[in-house]
Amino acid sequence: MIIRISGVCALLLAAATFADDEARWAIVVHGGAGVIERDSMTEEREAAYRGALDQALETGGMILTEGGEAMDAVEAVIRAMEDDPLFNAGRGAVFTSEGTNELDASIMDGATLNAGAVAGVTGIRHPITAARAVMEESGHVMLTGGGAEAFAREQDLEFVDPAFFFTERRWQSMERAVGRLGLPLPPRPEGAPEPEEIQEGHLDLLEREHRFGTVGVVALDQNGNIVAGTSTGGTTAKRWGRVGDSPVIGAGTYATDNCGVSATGTGEYFIRLNVAARICHEMEVMDRGAEERPFAAQDAADMVIQGALTDLGGDGGVIVLSISGETAWSFNTPGMYRASWGSDQERVIGIYGDEE
Ligand code: ASP
Repeated sequence: MIIRISGVCALLLAAATFADDEARWAIVVHGGAGVIERDSMTEEREAAYRGALDQALETGGMILTEGGEAMDAVEAVIRAMEDDPLFNAGRGAVFTSEGTNELDASIMDGATLNAGAVAGVTGIRHPITAARAVMEESGHVMLTGGGAEAFAREQDLEFVDPAFFFTERRWQSMERAVGRLGLPLPPRPEGAPEPEEIQEGHLDLLEREHRFGTVGVVALDQNGNIVAGTSTGGTTAKRWGRVGDSPVIGAGTYATDNCGVSATGTGEYFIRLNVAARICHEMEVMDRGAEERPFAAQDAADMVIQGALTDLGGDGGVIVLSISGETAWSFNTPGMYRASWGSDQERVIGIYGDEE
């Protein structure tokens, strides 16, 4: 049967499709992955994480529905998560074996392939904003340590005392890790509050959460631009200026005009597999040959996380977003704090492996 569409109908159809495309936006968020299981989680704690993830969607989604830029949405959501002590980024960051917080972050603009990153910064309140400033103002892609902080001061970014980042549970979790490594206990940072008792179970959870809690966001705005960003304190009791995948463009963060990825997990594996860029590459390869695209992001994410990462013995996960607004996640840990929302999809929030 041949269906003829009149000229007017065709025009209306085209206009409707165009309008749909115009209005399309999406956001996907993670707050770290690891051994996050129901029986080690209190109701209160679970509600706090779900609430924070919901708030992250709200913050980003409002910017995107109003026609704002993906770059602004990603930065705004990560800034809020950096201030939330639940997450291992900004306030709430894990401690190094020397009792300091060394923060890493990166951001990438898929439309231009511009990118910025900071690694090992200790006093910048919002490392993600520093990463964006590196991208926009420095002429470089990655700045580290004291140099990154000198640049941030020139940019008038906000600095805080080290005690700002302090949380008791992260401190005690580092003390336990340092003890296991047989290293001397570092002194409590100046300005830190008096020690308080943390329920043993909470510390166990933290450690089995696998010191994760890194945050990441990928957003698609109504102009069809994709931006990805990631911010972290790294891994508990890290040593010698260790830097993970989060500030490494291609490993922990990547975006093109077709896809965006933010990762969380043991960075040493993600760097070696170039995880984020690899997923984007798989999506391009698959898109070229595939007749249908809807599952490309999910397939590519699974291929790299359940395949290459797992085969290498790495642990963690990713969030992925495609230009068509498809959001996906894949992780090989028991859980991952995650959430997504978009013009074409309802809000989804998940923690454990057996949720949607
Ligand atoms: N990927 C981060 C790192 O290795 C840690 C994490 O995601 O939890 O620094």
